[in-house]
Amino acid sequence: MQSFVSMEEAFGLIGDVVQDRLTLIEQVTLSDAVNRYVAEPVVAQLSIPPHTNSARDGFALSTEQSLRASRGEVIPIAMEIRAGDSPDQLPADDSAGCVQIMTGAPVPPWATHIAMVEDTEQLSAGIRVARLSPEGMWIRHVGSDIRAGEAILAPGRRVLPEHIQALASSGVTRVSVHRLPKVAVCSTGEELVQLDAGTPGPGQIYDSNRPFMAAMLTNFGCDLVVNQHVGDSLEEMTGYIKDAMAAEADLVVSSGAVSMGNYDFVKPALEAIGAELIFHKVTQKPGKPLLFARLPNGALYFGLPGNPVSTVVNCRFYVHYALTGMQQRPPESPLKLRLAHDFEKQQGQALFLKAIVRRGKGGAMVEALDGQESFETAPLLKMNGWIVLSEHVGSMSAGDLVSFFPASPRGLPDIF
Ligand code: AMP
Ligand code: MG
Repeated sequence: MQSFVSMEEAFGLIGDVVQDRLTLIEQVTLSDAVNRYVAEPVVAQLSIPPHTNSARDGFALSTEQSLRASRGEVIPIAMEIRAGDSPDQLPADDSAGCVQIMTGAPVPPWATHIAMVEDTEQLSAGIRVARLSPEGMWIRHVGSDIRAGEAILAPGRRVLPEHIQALASSGVTRVSVHRLPKVAVCSTGEELVQLDAGTPGPGQIYDSNRPFMAAMLTNFGCDLVVNQHVGDSLEEMTGYIKDAMAAEADLVVSSGAVSMGNYDFVKPALEAIGAELIFHKVTQKPGKPLLFARLPNGALYFGLPGNPVSTVVNCRFYVHYALTGMQQRPPESPLKLRLAHDFEKQQGQALFLKAIVRRGKGGAMVEALDGQESFETAPLLKMNGWIVLSEHVGSMSAGDLVSFFPASPRGLPDIF
């Protein structure tokens, strides 16, 4: 096990382990696939368009007919063809005249021009064309949008409602996606009172980490299979880990009991169960005592320190990073934004700063909020994201570019 790893090393170690623990795959319908992550390449079954068709209501003419029409001659109409008519019904050549055609109807192979209805005059003997569109205009060719057999969505892509247009049109009815990751959460600590259990007594506090973790992980698209409070004892802690393994959790999370106190039972419980400890303690603030392990059944384990902001940072960044990798998604990358003020910092420790990005005269400016201690939750109500500073950087000046991650990895702050 490694101790005191850097933020970058911690992400690297998690990334390596996650390769062996991709979430399982399932086939779902298009509507169920929305917001899920593609697990196997999605291949178009049909070309779009499936047949060469007209983009306008009008008349399909051959080159010869269009030459005559441009000289002012009346062109007879051989037949009318509608969207949904088979290309087999089309006249084999232009000998009987042009074809009146509706948007989406198949274009005869001999037709080179479409004259729009509004550019023609209909007479009893046929049509006179006032304005002829250039050759090929308003003809949508088979496969010009998507070709049958083409891979159209790669693994790791999140399926969006807009994608359904191309998927449905190209004959894809089911998509192979990652199953929702199964996640177990627990809070630890004898001082904790559950929200529905009445007012905390002397020395007690409400359990805020557990409802937080449940909310954030559900928001990340996880299936919560275990959600419990655990007392500060080795037996209860090992009992939780066994419950999580029995529930086949892909990822097991605990808050608290991972530091240097006499009741910090997470590490002893993991050792008792035969887990592989990968790292403990990251040179960062907040959330330094973060622990990462692999359970005997291959599930990933995150021991998050209990201070509320430590739990938020480690869940938002490291647990989210693992969930991203498990579903083959590319890692998040930060926005680079200008700092609104000078900022003093020592090298040797990474910082996650509660921050707010605002529109300024010269573009977006980001500001670290007051109250950066790991117990200070009021700034969480004001912030719209995090400034993340590597341990390799020192003090910064106003106007310097810094990495900014939105509070919700799924969306930019409201100002954008
Ligand atoms: P620990 O990591 O268990 O040493 O806890 C560190 C600090 O976070 C202590 O002040 C705890 O009381 C507090 N804490 C631990 N777990 C929770 C929780 N679930 N909700 C709110 N505060 C907590
Ligand atoms: Mg504790």
